Amino acid sequence: MRNEVHQQRLSAHYIQHFNTSTLQLPKAFGINSFNKMKKLELHWKILIGMVLGVAFGALAVKLGWNGFVVDWIKPFGTIFINLLKLIAIPLIVASLIKGVSDLEDIAKLSSMGYKTIGFYLITTAVAISVGLIIVNIVEPGYLIDEPTRAEMMEKFGSGAQAKIQSAEEAKNAGPLQPLIDLVPDNIIGAASSNGNMLKVIFFVLFFGVGLILIPKEKAQPVKDFFDGVNEVVLKMIDLIMLTAPYGVFALLAALIVELPSAQIFVALLGYAACVAGGLLILLFFFYPTIVKIFTGRGWNFFFKGMAPAQLLAFSTSSSAATLPVTMERVEEHLGVDEEVASFVLPIGATINMDGTGLYQGVAAVFIAQAFGMELSLAAQLGIILTATLASIGSAAVPSAGMVMLVIVLQEAGIPEAGLALIFAIDRPLDMLRTVINVSSDATVSMVVAKSIGKLGEPKEKKWDDFVEQV
Ligand code: ASP
Repeated sequence: MRNEVHQQRLSAHYIQHFNTSTLQLPKAFGINSFNKMKKLELHWKILIGMVLGVAFGALAVKLGWNGFVVDWIKPFGTIFINLLKLIAIPLIVASLIKGVSDLEDIAKLSSMGYKTIGFYLITTAVAISVGLIIVNIVEPGYLIDEPTRAEMMEKFGSGAQAKIQSAEEAKNAGPLQPLIDLVPDNIIGAASSNGNMLKVIFFVLFFGVGLILIPKEKAQPVKDFFDGVNEVVLKMIDLIMLTAPYGVFALLAALIVELPSAQIFVALLGYAACVAGGLLILLFFFYPTIVKIFTGRGWNFFFKGMAPAQLLAFSTSSSAATLPVTMERVEEHLGVDEEVASFVLPIGATINMDGTGLYQGVAAVFIAQAFGMELSLAAQLGIILTATLASIGSAAVPSAGMVMLVIVLQEAGIPEAGLALIFAIDRPLDMLRTVINVSSDATVSMVVAKSIGKLGEPKEKKWDDFVEQV
């Protein structure tokens, strides 16, 4: 009996000891900091992934591991972008149908449409004007000397030629081609490519209008179905975003090993500073001011809400790939109602490209300067117009802005072969202008939402709850 009691005490002691030692385990193995890491806000995680990616890429270049990075790291970046793109069409379809049918009134849809297009055009024209003012003050084109120009023309001439050819194909179409392109002849065919986003939007809007016009009891099951699909897709985005830090690590590491030599960058520093300076003015001054004036929301609120989408735009150089995350952030963190976000953002991702427009304006004047051309005020006003149209026509994918720049150059009578001059530095600037494109879409969505009483409170908790669940 005594033995039994002793046994029990002993096991109680072990149990207690075991428990306390397991309680201490996390500290010993840094699990506390692991938990903290898990709780870290998403944009910090993405930022850490980016910094580590750049550092690893630089190390790889130093150690000659370029091949390894391209073969074994880059594919994970590509897979990450593919996952984001994969979700774009289902997201647009589900959320736009839900959004439009919730409007319950076609008049509301058209008023939202006018406001959206109006704001998009105004912000783009302002963006290009900012770029033109800067490039005319700094005059970076005159900093390029003749030998450097000849070297760059030779090195990047063939790459530029390929872009010129793509632009030619786009330009050969008739004046009403963009209108024809809007209306698909087959929805399955249109939905099979992310490049056909506007066609899909057209169909979905049309479908949504039909849904508004049929009796409520018939429409309800259709609405419920797409409501459910929408929830599933949003959850899929949450899951994809868990891998974002690793995805951006791979993307940036690969980017660094594939970058051209630093020497060329030096010659283009003045030009790059004009583009980057203009873009940063838009990002940190223009959009927060618009948000403040029209919605009363502050600088911090906007950036805290948008940071993950902005970092992703920077890493992927594609507004289309970033769209699912932009939509999620704008709805959950900026308080824009889904009816507005699902309408304004997909259209914005396709046609509203302030960053691209600014870049096209600066690049056109820079190339003209480098070739010793004087551009009159009328010619520069013409550039505002053509760059607005060219930015609308640019696809939401990496480098698309450069293809459409050819048309701006042609319209202004600037030699398009000059594209070779800016070729080397296009990618980093593309990354930055994509951030601006996405931020502009978010800004306009807030303004439009506010104007029709659809700007509410953000659902901030959601991401943390989700990470806890996982
Ligand atoms: N990469 C940009 C975007 O996706 C387009 C461009 O300027 O090339 O928004």
